[in-house]
Amino acid sequence: MNDNSELPGDGKQRSNSQTGSSDTESDGNTQQSSATDHTDDDQSSPSIKDVATVPHKAVIRPEDANTTITSTPIVDVRNLTKTYVIGRTHIPALQGITLRVYQGEFVAVMGPSGSGKSTFMNLIGCLDRPSKGEYWLAGKLVSRLSNDELANIRNHQIGFVFQGFNLLSRSTALSNVILPMVYAGISKEEREQRGRSMLRLVGLGQRMNHKPSELSGGQQQRVAIARALVNRPALLLADEPTGNLDSRTSLEIMAVLQALNDQGLTILMVTHEHDVARFAKRQVAFRDGLVVHDEPNPSPDSAKDEWTKLVNRTAAEHKVKVTEEAH
Ligand code: ADP
Repeated sequence: MNDNSELPGDGKQRSNSQTGSSDTESDGNTQQSSATDHTDDDQSSPSIKDVATVPHKAVIRPEDANTTITSTPIVDVRNLTKTYVIGRTHIPALQGITLRVYQGEFVAVMGPSGSGKSTFMNLIGCLDRPSKGEYWLAGKLVSRLSNDELANIRNHQIGFVFQGFNLLSRSTALSNVILPMVYAGISKEEREQRGRSMLRLVGLGQRMNHKPSELSGGQQQRVAIARALVNRPALLLADEPTGNLDSRTSLEIMAVLQALNDQGLTILMVTHEHDVARFAKRQVAFRDGLVVHDEPNPSPDSAKDEWTKLVNRTAAEHKVKVTEEAH
């Protein structure tokens, strides 16, 4: 069996908590409890079917989150404008974006190249400031904060997942996940406990001491997701999270994100692929720095179901092939 096919969402529910901050990549304030149940020491590897068909257990309980659950949007941007100035040239990357994202939403931001998606994500991730307009994050006006204040908000409210995983190559999965908590000054014992818990949550309980080069692309991205969540972000920003992955592994990662969202995590994901956006609950399209489409997706496809079908089909085809070769 390929370990790449492990999915989160089975096993006993565990209670754990994460707090703290990171340098650039994560944290926030959502409470999680582990959905997968494998420890580092587990010798019994679950079968594909086991891990793929057991329903998701609660991984994040909104009632436990540090954030007060109100109707305050997590993201509230009003007439957000960004103009890059190069010499005498003004490049209007965002021309007035107004958008609200509430707790528990899973939003796919789409649009052609140059439509302003990255610029928007940079602003939402507090990596840059708008030229005009307001950005309220979890009820706080952040668009006019200083760099230090922005870094603080970034470290405490937002988890980042990138196309290229951005893991430290010489560090184990566990060390990668623990790192954001080191910056937050969390005790060693708690870091270890939370790090292990988050890796179990994303189905990597048996891969904690592996380095990125010893992990598949999907597993590396799951480490990155665990790292992004370890400090309990109010918002997970995912920038083309499946961009470097094959279609089966993309389904695996989308299943992880859907499982997390099912438990209350708010996700904003940039993707240029409709095939990925269909798993989100809401689809927003950008063009020329403007929102040109914003629709709920009332019945998103289930990445886990599709992944299961694909794996079963591949297994059946393999069986037929082996049988034919035997005759
Ligand atoms: P997308 O992510 O949808 O491809 P971007 O946000 O990267 O779009 O780009 C929107 C527009 O802003 C494009 O015209 C791009 O060339 C321009 N742009 C993006 N970043 C910069 C920058 N740092 N300096 C100048 N122009 C930029």
